[in-house]
Amino acid sequence: MLNSFMVKITASFISFILAFGTFFGAYKAPKTQEASKYFDDNIKNVIYLIGDGMGFNHLEKTKVEKNTELVMDTFEIKGSSMTRSFNKKVTDSAAGGTALSSGIRTNNSAVGVYPFDKQAKYSYPKNITELCMESGMLTGVVTSDATTGATPSSFSAHESNRNNTAELTADQFESGINFIWGLSNGVATKSNAEKAGYEYITTYDEMMSLEEGGYSYAQFNNNLWTIEQSDSETPTLEQMSMKAIDILDDTDEGFFLMIEGAHIDKHSHSNASDEMTESLESFDDTIEAVLEYAKADGETLVVVTADHETGAITPKGNGYIFTSGDHSAADVPVLVYGSDKLIAKGEKLNNYEIPIRIAYVLGFDETQFPVAVIV
Ligand SMILES: [Zn+2]
Repeated sequence: MLNSFMVKITASFISFILAFGTFFGAYKAPKTQEASKYFDDNIKNVIYLIGDGMGFNHLEKTKVEKNTELVMDTFEIKGSSMTRSFNKKVTDSAAGGTALSSGIRTNNSAVGVYPFDKQAKYSYPKNITELCMESGMLTGVVTSDATTGATPSSFSAHESNRNNTAELTADQFESGINFIWGLSNGVATKSNAEKAGYEYITTYDEMMSLEEGGYSYAQFNNNLWTIEQSDSETPTLEQMSMKAIDILDDTDEGFFLMIEGAHIDKHSHSNASDEMTESLESFDDTIEAVLEYAKADGETLVVVTADHETGAITPKGNGYIFTSGDHSAADVPVLVYGSDKLIAKGEKLNNYEIPIRIAYVLGFDETQFPVAVIV
């Protein structure tokens, strides 16, 4: 999808979309705020952290089993999100990621497209990465999953199916995003990346030598979710995230960075408690480092949430157990640092409202996001 084809939606097309259901629901400011004041002019940067599959009880289970405290518990502004997709009460990561990136609900398996136009033949929803890019902000996507996993793809691609790896990769190379880093997807090649103007990297040292403002695509080859480096060539999620901030944070326009901790979900599907809790701790370590940056910076909004819960974790005795190997419809946390205008304490949002609120905190208005891009 070429940026040059992006055209703002017309009023008649908005009515057309509204006719399709409630997923495009009217934007409401938090109860404590006036809509007209819904702008936080201190905020220039956004770091959006998504713990794939992370419900409230994932945090409780980790604290009990690792006998540890979590930085995620220290956020003063905490609410929750109702996760569902357009066609199912229980969402997958594609529709869940699309809600979190684009402010709309779509069908399970779909990535950054409308439920009624899955091939993006006529239109697709602009995602928040594209919105930020258009305003001159630098952008980056970092994940412990493959670069074309459903969550990173929702912030960088528009395809009917999350399994269309070649098409998702091609979309990412056309996206204009400064960098997309994650595990090798088996499809992206050095020559394709370079043809698209992206530096192709595969090692920790190559990542660390990247400079500000360039374009890079990382295909690492070992686990990115462990607390310590899985080998000297492979960074941790925290190392990727800190390097990402380092090469994004020097412009007047600000930056948008999405960071996904993917294996909270993957290890919940297999009910692997030790691996799940380690993934969650690795994600929490990343959040700790991000918060330290944001506190020093003073102009950065940090939002932590999840696309859905996985494993239906339930209290039992003194602990917490998996009761399923699949996703559930349980609400997930929304944790915010940097602005009290995104969510009121204890407020429950629909998943698709989160990126809309981020856009409003950045100063965009409802004519700018969410909107359709006509193709
Ligand atoms: Zn999953």
